[in-house]
Amino acid sequence: MGWSLKKLIQIVAMLAIVLTFLTSTTVGYRVNKQALIDSTLGTNKAYAEKLASTTNTYLRETLKILQVNSEEVLSLIAQPDSQLQLNGIVERIRTQTSTFNSVVIVSPEGIVQGVSPSSLNLIGEKLTSVGAKQAIEEKRSIISQPYVSTTGELIVFISVPLFSENGTYRGILGGAIYLNKPNVLEKVLGVHFTENGSYVYVVDKKGSLIYHQHGKRMKDDVSENEVVKKVITGINGSQQFVNTKGIPMLAGYAYVPIADWGIISQRPVSVAVSPAKSMVVEMAWKSLPLLLLAFFLVRYLSKKIAMPLQRLAYYTESSPEVDQKEKMETVSDWYYEARQLKGAVLYSIDYFKNEMNYFIHQSTTDPLTKLTNRRTMDDFMKQWVEEKKPFALVIFDIDKFKRVNDRYGHVVGDEVLVYLADLMQNAARKGDICCRYGGEEFVILLPKADKATAYQVAERLREKLEGTVSPCGEIVTISAGVATYPLDAVYPAQIIELADQCLYQAKRTGRNKTIVVSDEPRHE
Ligand code: GH3
Ligand code: MG
Ligand code: MG
Repeated sequence: MGWSLKKLIQIVAMLAIVLTFLTSTTVGYRVNKQALIDSTLGTNKAYAEKLASTTNTYLRETLKILQVNSEEVLSLIAQPDSQLQLNGIVERIRTQTSTFNSVVIVSPEGIVQGVSPSSLNLIGEKLTSVGAKQAIEEKRSIISQPYVSTTGELIVFISVPLFSENGTYRGILGGAIYLNKPNVLEKVLGVHFTENGSYVYVVDKKGSLIYHQHGKRMKDDVSENEVVKKVITGINGSQQFVNTKGIPMLAGYAYVPIADWGIISQRPVSVAVSPAKSMVVEMAWKSLPLLLLAFFLVRYLSKKIAMPLQRLAYYTESSPEVDQKEKMETVSDWYYEARQLKGAVLYSIDYFKNEMNYFIHQSTTDPLTKLTNRRTMDDFMKQWVEEKKPFALVIFDIDKFKRVNDRYGHVVGDEVLVYLADLMQNAARKGDICCRYGGEEFVILLPKADKATAYQVAERLREKLEGTVSPCGEIVTISAGVATYPLDAVYPAQIIELADQCLYQAKRTGRNKTIVVSDEPRHE
């Protein structure tokens, strides 16, 4: 049967619905994802800047504390036997500020003059660490880049120079922050929102990690990291990038000017955009009832649209049915194409019906007299005999017709034939069938008629003819023979034969008369 219009409409509509749904969810997902990315970048940048500013302030305050204490150290350092007091100062600085893991006072020669915690046992020792050396050499406030000490600690050394009133250089007061031990940076930076995948790390000027949530990554060189490259040049900002482990990240970064450090706060893209995914799922669930509604609507409308055409197609297929036209008229035609098509189909049904009637008429009637032709007459008789319907048959022939033709010509002869045909139909009863049997021979079939009735009909016609002038200007007469079914014969040919014999007898015995088959048994 192939594809039906209904199916096609349904498929097209469904495709449209699904495509619209996919487009809206995809666009929704993209927009939402971008919004999440933008907001995460913004948040991370703000957070990195906040941490950088806090760290900067903290380090400046730390230098100030060292500065303030340096006065007292200077006053003591000049005095002999001040060892205990010096130790007391450094111990106080370490414990009160809780910034440093260790605090030292060092002479310009690098000899330790005071230390906290005293357990380090460094008094009188010469410090050779990078930070201390740099501080002694440069004679200014310093926050060192991280370095590994002789004891293996990763250290940032913060120190102020000691200058007496007369400007003599007396060494340094400094503290060390052990980056690989619990330290103050952890407190300042904190361990924030790690549960949502975000984390913070700090790099030094060279791009080495000096703070990371995974302590073991300390001192790792991440200078190849795009964001690290930017932040150590002193820029603040945010961007999406792929980290050294190949994970796409959303990072905000900020520079700590006082120490030349960079602070980066970042979050994996996948974590940041995951709400967009759940939004899509939620969207799908929420639109499910609407989708179902659309689905049923499509089914209903496709049926409504396809139904008229479907029914027209169906009724066209079953064309020979009698009530085809009535059925067609019931088809709904609520839209233009259906209306046009229905109109065209109804028109063609009418047209073909007329054509058919015309051809049926043509094939069953005699063109000259418009009487039933001989073939149709045979059909009637055959049918009635099959149905055993009684009937009478009158056959008649114009008397001396040759003479009419000879005298007035064939055209006038034809007019006489038409004239006779009209009289015949007037004489016949309703339901009788008047036929042109041959040239100027005619038959009337009279259903349910007996001999007497048939005789009366024949006589009425004969008398009428006898009493009027025909189109040739003369009176023409007819001779007739009558036979009946089933009384006289049971086969059509026999009935005609019997009637014809009577006709012949009428001719022989003077013409212009009707002879009925005798009821006497025949001896043939
Ligand atoms: P009868 O009384 O014995 O019947 O004499 P008849 O002259 O009528 O003889 P017959 O019936 O044998 O002749 C029939 C004539 O009818 C022959 C033909 O010229 C004429 N005829 C037959 N068909 C037509 C027709 O269609 N038109 C015309 N004008 N004449 C026809
Ligand atoms: Mg004849
Ligand atoms: Mg004749």
